[in-house]
Amino acid sequence: MTDTQTPTDVAAAANNKKSSWLERGVPGVKQQLTAPLTAVNTEPSTECPNCHTVTTNTALIFNCYVCPHCDHHLTMTARDRLQWFLDEVEGELGQQFSAKDPLQFVDSKPYPKRMAEAQDKTGESEALIVMHGKLRNLTVVACAFDFRFMGGSMGSVVGDRFVEAAEYALEHRVPLVCFAASGGARMQEGLLSLMQMARTASAVERLRLAGVPYLVVLTNPVYGGVTASLAMLGDIHLAEPKAMIGFAGKRVIEQTVREKLEEPFQRAEYLLDHGVVDEVVHRHQLIDTSYRLLAKLCQQPNIQA
Ligand SMILES: [Zn+2]
Repeated sequence: MTDTQTPTDVAAAANNKKSSWLERGVPGVKQQLTAPLTAVNTEPSTECPNCHTVTTNTALIFNCYVCPHCDHHLTMTARDRLQWFLDEVEGELGQQFSAKDPLQFVDSKPYPKRMAEAQDKTGESEALIVMHGKLRNLTVVACAFDFRFMGGSMGSVVGDRFVEAAEYALEHRVPLVCFAASGGARMQEGLLSLMQMARTASAVERLRLAGVPYLVVLTNPVYGGVTASLAMLGDIHLAEPKAMIGFAGKRVIEQTVREKLEEPFQRAEYLLDHGVVDEVVHRHQLIDTSYRLLAKLCQQPNIQA
């Protein structure tokens, strides 16, 4: 510090020396103030798996979890799905059932441990959630698979819950709706898991004999024992755009037939062309379409479908 400099001058000079020429600005030109760089957007966001654009979760929720950039239908959790679908939730069914481990099954980890991890991850007790409530003026029972829960696999509790949903629908003579998303049977339960195919199929048959409508919405993906039972036994099958639907996976079939299977093999649109699904419906129209179909099947007089 020289005799003519005050401590403030020295500090200012030091600061000036540290900052870059961009920050110092041009002498004689008024500097424009900009927002500090620390003000970053901290709102929770999700990357679209199709176009990799990042969208805030709020925007996604308002758009029914459809990517606003490429129209890709993102996975919805079972609870989100049912709360979105029903105008009013009156109650939840099948919560009294809990999984057992009769085979003492261990793969890379014991089955109970795997279940506990899935429960921690999803906050759900099983892979199928069942609710009853209102879809506009209709009372319906709706169930949805949660693919995050062990790949939406169908074990005995999933079977129990589905049968309970069907029995409730039968007793109250209200339609049953199922949003399917599953990798198939739960191998940790072996034969017990495979038996759920017969149980759920017979529950659907009881609905059919009583004339109670059963609507299936196939969401991405539906495979294995679920495709081979409850997901293909609806009075009407709707599917979300580009959902993968099949029994065996594409790679397994390719290895078996030794042939390359091109897109859109096993996509919803391909199955529509081949008569497996009745309509591919955009998620924005799914509630309207489901309501119109169910109302028609229930013969509501105030519908112009
Ligand atoms: Zn996208």
